[in-house]
Amino acid sequence: MSKEPDILDAAHTIRFHLRELLDDTEAEALDRKLDALLTKAESDKAAERQIENLLCGNKTVREWTHRFLNPDDVRKSYKKLPGEGGNVPGREKYICPCCNRWWFRRNVGQRIPTCCNSEALVPANGVKS
Ligand SMILES: [Zn+2]
Repeated sequence: MSKEPDILDAAHTIRFHLRELLDDTEAEALDRKLDALLTKAESDKAAERQIENLLCGNKTVREWTHRFLNPDDVRKSYKKLPGEGGNVPGREKYICPCCNRWWFRRNVGQRIPTCCNSEALVPANGVKS
């Protein structure tokens, strides 16, 4: 059984949707902070807490994160936020083979985002996270 998506999964996934959620300046600033903290989190557990605080700092981002971590709330809701599905049970994890950023697809209709060198992320099946 795969583990439940956590705050790090939320942070990785939301980075691909920041420009749909925030204006360009805010999106860029948050992306830079998340980038630094996610790198830090690889060796420092305390960074997870900072990421959580960061994702709670903005109303739109907080709502997105809450719903990412609580998919049942999404299924009950008619309003969808960017990067949300709700009709398809389960989540597929995709990763970038270059930089190891990852993203969760939560609706089969969602386009797979691109990352380094404009290459699409690849399914993470069988890849250890
Ligand atoms: Zn990449």
